[in-house]
Amino acid sequence: MALQVELIPTGEIIRVVHPHRPCKLALGSDGVRVTMESTLTARDRVGVQDFVLLENFTSEAAFIENLRRRFRENLIYTYIGPVLVSVNPYRDLQIYSQQHMERYRGVSFYKVPPHLFAVADTVYRALRTERRDQAVMISGESGAGKTEATKRLLQFYAETCPAPERGGAVRDRLLQSNPVLEAFGNAKTLRNDNSSRFGKYMDVQFDFKGAPVGGHILSYLLEKSRVVHQNHGERNFHVFYQLLEGGEEEMLRRLGLERNPQSYLYLVKGQCAKVSSINDKSDWKVVRKALTVIDFTEDEVEDLLSIVASVLHLGNIHFAADEESNAQVTTENQLKYLTRLLGVEGLTLREALTHRKIIAKGEELLSPLNLEQAAYARDALAKAVYSRTFTWLVGKINRSLASKDAESPSWRSTTVLGLLDIYGFEVFQHNSFEQFCINYCNEKLQQLFIELTLKSEQEEYEAEGIAWEPVQYFNNKIICDLVEEKFKGIISILVSAWLLPRPRLPLPITPRHKLADQPTRKSLGRGEFRLLHYAGEVTYSVTGFLDKNNDLLFRNLKETMCSSQNPIMSQCFDRSELSDKKRPETVATQFKMSLLQLVEILKSKEPAYIRCIKPNDSKQPGRFDEVLIRHQVKYLGLMENLRVRRAGFAYRRKYEAFLQRYKSLCPDTWPTWAGRPQDGVAVLIRHLGYKPEEYKMGRTKIFIRFPKTLFATEDALEVRR
Ligand code: ADP
Ligand code: MG
Repeated sequence: MALQVELIPTGEIIRVVHPHRPCKLALGSDGVRVTMESTLTARDRVGVQDFVLLENFTSEAAFIENLRRRFRENLIYTYIGPVLVSVNPYRDLQIYSQQHMERYRGVSFYKVPPHLFAVADTVYRALRTERRDQAVMISGESGAGKTEATKRLLQFYAETCPAPERGGAVRDRLLQSNPVLEAFGNAKTLRNDNSSRFGKYMDVQFDFKGAPVGGHILSYLLEKSRVVHQNHGERNFHVFYQLLEGGEEEMLRRLGLERNPQSYLYLVKGQCAKVSSINDKSDWKVVRKALTVIDFTEDEVEDLLSIVASVLHLGNIHFAADEESNAQVTTENQLKYLTRLLGVEGLTLREALTHRKIIAKGEELLSPLNLEQAAYARDALAKAVYSRTFTWLVGKINRSLASKDAESPSWRSTTVLGLLDIYGFEVFQHNSFEQFCINYCNEKLQQLFIELTLKSEQEEYEAEGIAWEPVQYFNNKIICDLVEEKFKGIISILVSAWLLPRPRLPLPITPRHKLADQPTRKSLGRGEFRLLHYAGEVTYSVTGFLDKNNDLLFRNLKETMCSSQNPIMSQCFDRSELSDKKRPETVATQFKMSLLQLVEILKSKEPAYIRCIKPNDSKQPGRFDEVLIRHQVKYLGLMENLRVRRAGFAYRRKYEAFLQRYKSLCPDTWPTWAGRPQDGVAVLIRHLGYKPEEYKMGRTKIFIRFPKTLFATEDALEVRR
């Protein structure tokens, strides 16, 4: 018996035309289910595929219920208009295959169920046809699926875009840069076994034929404290374990390393060198191969690994106090390897690790360090060496990704597609400098989001000749100003606090935005301040703020590193740092500047958004933890997003598409309408009895105000069939 199968866009229900009995098949996680036509509607079972179609769009409960229904059916993607909301399934759903790519290629957004590839394809087509740069912004908390989404997007472009005429290797390099960056920038945390510990923005450049020809990466705020300390159950960056597990005997001998991670103090703090989901040995092979693809010579690999090894040796440097309580290095073997691997003078390094150089009245004085100070200096050096190497690595990858066609005329006609994979809003029990920076970043991106979303809504209304109705929304500019304003902003205050002889904290900050008078709110402790972010209140503790912001590396350690014979190190430490009278920028100031630059980059592009949600804290498939999800809906600003999107009309569609879908509902438009589609739609909706307040006719689209109007039409279609 032949069945006629059709996909209905408002819910992934397959309608089966059965010769005798009307019935439906619903595609579910556990196979195919059949229900009688009358018992269930598609919306009851799998929710709506666009939140703007929710009847009760201001209700968070309705929002979450819709997410839940879809998640239960393994439908992890849902739209808010053009924004894609994604829930991490924590299982391989087999939805990223070649066939899936084909299915979404060149197909209109609304004709297919929501999918990452639908966004990928829409963005790519806009880039090709309108020749406008695009930016896909992916946000969400740790473990929500941002990095996976970024990888899938890159894969989609690598596999579906035409190959460039020259320099075809760039596709491989784009893909292979990833394992290398992940080895050095990702780590196992409690939240995610492969957590990115840096923010990443990647541009992919396309030539006029739509072939990828180059790329460029910007990285943000590597969490360098991880190099010297990991919380229980967490690891250091992957590369250390990969090298120890996978490196050849001969190489490890040269680097003076033992296989066992337990031998290294920088690797034992979290007490979990082995992770069941990670195979360091095979990952190492991948990384080693990738390094070659991205143009590393054998010598460069050796130089790079010498640095990785020297960080491990640094961690094992011990000090003992002499009779004057001054620190002395007691681990000669480690010092010997360090000297060799970094290409520095043994005596100089020994002295730099145990003394601080002070320049007073033009004279250099060496002041001995005590045990605590020496350990601090050693850790500061390890962090500086590692984080600067990471920055160097990004630069190296960029040189390899740089379009080789830069000189040719076609270069000028390239378009750019940006992918932003950046940490989401963070609120912990204890929030410090890192959370402050991350949340400030999210505040900026939220501001940009609101600005761009409102702007594009407004532009669409204008283009369609429909009167704009103002939307009420929370403008979070006030919080951004509070953080970044010159002189008065928190970042400025941090800088000046450091300049005080003895920094006095807590900071003199009075948040100007009303801190709602909630009686249950914990009162502020000493050395705490609280910000009312768009996503909620966060209390920050200023302990360690200044240290982390100033990132102090003693002068003689810098000098020592400047003399390094390791070519990578000598590029990472520059003598100009020593002679420069100007104070180096603080971490927060640098971050603020790179963030402002990022905002400018993003502003110059057409935005697309992917909002990732983590369904539970135990990395388990099928578990939908409502409390956790409600938090994320809030932190991602999804209700606000929906409100802005729904301010005017729930639904809009091109006249051609609308007519095509519903023309069978009216004898005058069925089977074909000969006139303008717009007139056909006018005839059609008059026949359906749409009331004037329910819709507006734009230049190219019909705008429908309420979902129920659309659903009534959709149901009429169902009854007819
Ligand atoms: P984030 O970058 O947001 O911290 P990741 O992208 O690293 O999170 O995702 C964490 C883990 O969740 C991944 O290692 C993978 O196991 C799983 N995961 C994420 N997205 C998907 C997906 N779409 N399908 C299947 N598993 C996923
Ligand atoms: Mg990540």
